[in-house]
Amino acid sequence: MKIELCPNCGSDSYIKSGIVNNRQRYKCKKCNYFFSVNKIGKKIDDYYVNKSLQLYLEGLTYREIERILGISHVSIMNWVKKYNIKRPYNSTYHPTYKILNADELGNYFQNAENVKGAGVIVTELGDKFMLIKWERFKD
Ligand SMILES: [Zn+2]
Repeated sequence: MKIELCPNCGSDSYIKSGIVNNRQRYKCKKCNYFFSVNKIGKKIDDYYVNKSLQLYLEGLTYREIERILGISHVSIMNWVKKYNIKRPYNSTYHPTYKILNADELGNYFQNAENVKGAGVIVTELGDKFMLIKWERFKD
C-alpha cells in the first residue's frame, strides 16, 4: 500500500518508523507526526484534497477552508503547492458561503431574491451542502 501524504500536514516526505500492532508506522519528516497506513483512508483523503482545492479556487482563504473542512491550513497550503494550483488574485470577488442541509437548500432556492444578481454554486460537504455565493456588484 502506498501512502502519498502525511495525514497531519499533507507532506509527502516521511520515513518508516517501526512496526506497531503489526502495522508499519511512519514518521513525517516535516511535522514529526506519527501515523500508520490504516489511518489513511485513501478515498477520504482524495475527497478532502479535492474539496480543499475546489474551495481554494472559489476564492476562500486557507483559514476559512480550515474552519469549514477541519483540515489544517498547512495541509491545504501543501496541496496547493503540490498540485500547482493558481488562482487569479481578485479581492473584490470574495464569496460568502453558507452550510445548509437538503431541506434548507431547497428553501433557499425557492426564494428568487436569494439568487438574484449573484452567482451561486453548491458543493457537497459531508452530509450537508455548501452554498458559495458571489455578489459581484455589491459595492
Ligand atoms: Zn506531516
